[in-house]
Amino acid sequence: MSKPRKPSPKDAAERESALSLFLRGIFWAAVIALVLVSVSSTDIPEFSWSQIAWWHTSDHTQPGLVFLPTPTPQPALRVGIISGHWENDSGATCPDGLQEVDVNHAIALRVQADLRRAGYQVDLLAEFDPRLKGYQAAALVSIHADVCDLNPDFTGYKTAPARGTGNPAQLQNSLHLKACLDARYATATGLSYHPTSVSRHMTGYHAFNEIAPDTPAVIIETGFMGMDRDLLVNHPDIVARGITNGILCYLHNDPISTPTPAATP
Ligand SMILES: [Zn+2]
Repeated sequence: MSKPRKPSPKDAAERESALSLFLRGIFWAAVIALVLVSVSSTDIPEFSWSQIAWWHTSDHTQPGLVFLPTPTPQPALRVGIISGHWENDSGATCPDGLQEVDVNHAIALRVQADLRRAGYQVDLLAEFDPRLKGYQAAALVSIHADVCDLNPDFTGYKTAPARGTGNPAQLQNSLHLKACLDARYATATGLSYHPTSVSRHMTGYHAFNEIAPDTPAVIIETGFMGMDRDLLVNHPDIVARGITNGILCYLHNDPISTPTPAATP
């Protein structure tokens, strides 16, 4: 009967080493599995050069403070209002001395105030204002009124757009501005459009040839100083609101069929 060989210390060391290697393998596999399960891909912060740049450029004494660039405020859109005949001549006159230039100016001042309240930069321009040369604006409207004849047919308003001879987009935008003005002005004032009295003074209006070729422009005859006198003289606020709402309809690109809310509170 042979005596079982007594395991040598060397054998024991080899077994222990293999077991330890095996256990260590299981341990690290478990650790890696745990890490993979607990950290989903969305938890891993994304690397970006901007973060590196921030770290290198920011003040590390105030951790957590991130300096964002201050946004530059957009300048308000500019709108031009020509007060018809202002600083030039009287325009149409009535037998009692009522002058078109004064009727126009009372309306133009109110349009300017209404549009400023709505947040726009508004230039009040004279009939032959030197600023009209190359004038750039989101919209330009020239305000006039028609003759004082007491003819029952002489009631209503009309408009004419800049023709866009230098830039087809000017005609397109001016037609849009005109459509907005026609709709909102009729709603505010109750006047109807008077197409037969659109004159060459309107279609060939001098300012259309002076302004920048991309400035949309319209001339409006707000009514007749004879038959529409009460509205023009005693209610310039209503007349102005019709013009302001027409300009805002265009600037906001509102659907023309939907009434623009009143510009004045
Ligand atoms: Zn006029």
